[in-house]
Amino acid sequence: MSVSTRRREELVDITSQVEEAIRSAGVSSGICVLYCPHTTSALTINEGADPAVAADLISGLRRLVPEGWDFTHAEGNSDAHLKASLFGASETIIIEGGRLVLGTWQRIFYCEFDGPRQRTLYISIEGQKDNQG
Ligand code: ZN
Repeated sequence: MSVSTRRREELVDITSQVEEAIRSAGVSSGICVLYCPHTTSALTINEGADPAVAADLISGLRRLVPEGWDFTHAEGNSDAHLKASLFGASETIIIEGGRLVLGTWQRIFYCEFDGPRQRTLYISIEGQKDNQG
């Protein structure tokens, strides 16, 4: 899968794309593994009902990891590397009845910390094609 980000820091809701991939795979019961192969972006699962939560996650991370910190990495984007490690590179989600098992308010977010960029996201869907047996 690919994800286009439009800002330096942005949480992109990718839940619908992941659900579409599961439908295409025809898996009704199993596991979905998402993996982000970049060092300045990440994945997280959090509230998607109120978009203010994603905005607050970004502003909260900015307070935790200020850009102007005394970093040594010559590329100048160490804040993005640190934020990516805080959120992590992968998520594992259970599939039941052909759907992701997520909480009522949960959505899957691709977390951009050094955009805008065209990003790659790996998705592995393992499981049974039907519920028999
Ligand atoms: Zn860097």
